[in-house]
Amino acid sequence: MALDPIHVGTGGTRLGRVDNTIVRDPVTRIPKIPGSSIAGVMRAYTAMAKGKYPKCAGLGQPERNGAGGHCGKADCPVCTVFGFAKGIGTYGGFAGLAAFSDMHVLLFPVASQLGPQWITCPMALRQTSIAEFSELDDLLEQQVVYRKADGTANQPSLNLGWLFLPVKTDWQPLSEIDQKIEELGIPGYIIGRLAVVSDKLFTHIVNSNLEVRTSVAIDPATGAAEEGALFTYEALPRSTVLFWEVTCRNPKHFKINQGDVKAVDSPEKVRDVVADAYSYLEHLGIGGMGSRGMGRLRVLATKELAGADKPGKEVS
Ligand SMILES: [Zn+2]
Repeated sequence: MALDPIHVGTGGTRLGRVDNTIVRDPVTRIPKIPGSSIAGVMRAYTAMAKGKYPKCAGLGQPERNGAGGHCGKADCPVCTVFGFAKGIGTYGGFAGLAAFSDMHVLLFPVASQLGPQWITCPMALRQTSIAEFSELDDLLEQQVVYRKADGTANQPSLNLGWLFLPVKTDWQPLSEIDQKIEELGIPGYIIGRLAVVSDKLFTHIVNSNLEVRTSVAIDPATGAAEEGALFTYEALPRSTVLFWEVTCRNPKHFKINQGDVKAVDSPEKVRDVVADAYSYLEHLGIGGMGSRGMGRLRVLATKELAGADKPGKEVS
């Protein structure tokens, strides 16, 4: 869950309403946090947690004289779990035992006349690869919002941003979705305000309710605002719930420098090494604009979807 707005930028500017845009899924157009960004950040935080910072953090390219770079040792928890490079053109890199999926938006907060609502859609639920969601059908009606049949759901309509949608309570899968989402460790105040819309509406609602901030670049020489330096940037709002997967490979199936992996001896140990960095995510965060109070994430729950050699699931 996002504790701050999160800005993982595209690394450039584009023409349009916002100068600094965030990364989006090319097909759904919904913002996401790329797995490569997560892996890099988690590597740096694990290195801090294990006393291996900065040597085993970063890209690991040694300097020209061969100094620096990843240690690449079989007993290094950072280099075994996150992999290591051995310099350009040199043999002996290792891909790492943990693999990180992209973080997808699962529940997106939007203001309404009933207070904040957390919106999701069948596509976002299916993307979690939770078995019960994988066969989820599309909604009965595309232009309505489905909620639970509680007191507030008796209101005939809900305004979500610029949309004014009729409320319906007859979508059967909703009670099971509630229950499965609760098992992911998502707080009750979010589950009580869950609303489901069609995939198409979800894309519109997310993209028109991103946080857009205006900021001014500061000239380091004068400490004053630079000429023409007003810029805008967008971010996923605070309390967005994201879903990601960490695949933990079995160290017994891999060799490093022709020897066994010594730092970890099971997929569970790989997961534990990754989990040691979670508290850093909560304090140091991910993405850009950290100095403007952005980027902190809390990992809510770790759900094992399968046993050995199958991915474990994370919600944050
Ligand atoms: Zn190392």
